[in-house]
Amino acid sequence: MTKQKIDLLTNRIISGGNIAYEESLELCKTTEIDYLCNSANEIRKHFTGNYFNLCSIVNAKSGKCSENCKWCSQSSFHNTDIETYDIIDKEEAVKQAINNDKKGVHKFSLVTSGKTVSDKKLAQLIDIYQAIKKETNIEIDASMGLLKKEQLQKLKDIGIKHYHCNLETSRTFFPNVCSTHTYEEKINTLKSAKEVGLDTCSGGIIGMGETIQQRVELAFELKNLGVKSIPINILNPIEGTALENTPPLSDNEILITFALFRFINPDAYIRFAGGRLQISHLEGKLLNSGVNAALVGDLLTTVGKNIDEDLKQFRKNGFNFTNP
Ligand code: SF4
Repeated sequence: MTKQKIDLLTNRIISGGNIAYEESLELCKTTEIDYLCNSANEIRKHFTGNYFNLCSIVNAKSGKCSENCKWCSQSSFHNTDIETYDIIDKEEAVKQAINNDKKGVHKFSLVTSGKTVSDKKLAQLIDIYQAIKKETNIEIDASMGLLKKEQLQKLKDIGIKHYHCNLETSRTFFPNVCSTHTYEEKINTLKSAKEVGLDTCSGGIIGMGETIQQRVELAFELKNLGVKSIPINILNPIEGTALENTPPLSDNEILITFALFRFINPDAYIRFAGGRLQISHLEGKLLNSGVNAALVGDLLTTVGKNIDEDLKQFRKNGFNFTNP
């Protein structure tokens, strides 16, 4: 695709129009990658300005998961060296929420391993949220798998803002990486979350063996579901998981993917998530390719980047953290 065609699409999107699926596929083939990234950055500036959204998570229930997601160190199908525990100690969760709040992080989410959580466990988690609310002003979010609508309603009632459930990949590729639950179950969870008034956060992992076309499919699924917070993880091939030997994506594939997500979801938060340590060399470029959000601090079972250094880098690239 030529620079002129990229300009045409950029101008159309900035004027409130959309990019079609076929046009997105064409965009993937461009050799004008820097130009594509700059254009994605222009779209980001137009729709969301220089505000950068920061979120943090804590692993509130770790490991021993019944599901067979091929990338995941918490699956009981895998032999990994992670710490496993039932529900996190309340004081520990509150301490982490306070720390993130003090650093100026906007959102804090409890994330649990497993296909879903029981009502009994949900009550324990709600108790932790109540304690966090007493001690901080941080936005509280949740990621607890395939919850029932009544359970999502309970979360909404205590002040949860976003419910997170990654689609992970495209509908066509998902059966290659998980067979113990379905794509449709994830979609239904996101729809139920919306129905009870929660905002949704959903994205995926790139580099699991999917094609660029399947990444485009994911970006459109999210657009069609009205998701406005889209974490993009780069596969971290953890030893002992089924994907441990997966070769990494090229830098260009990563850049094109982030830019494409911005073209397809122009007003969303396109969020750096897991796998950032593998792409440190690309971060400056990606911050100018449509990214406007990040998951900061430690991840579920892996250590993340230092928050202060992260904030410094985001500022250096022209972003601010004051809610618009
Ligand atoms: S991604 Fe979630 S559901 Fe899948 S194995 Fe990991 S913890 Fe279980």
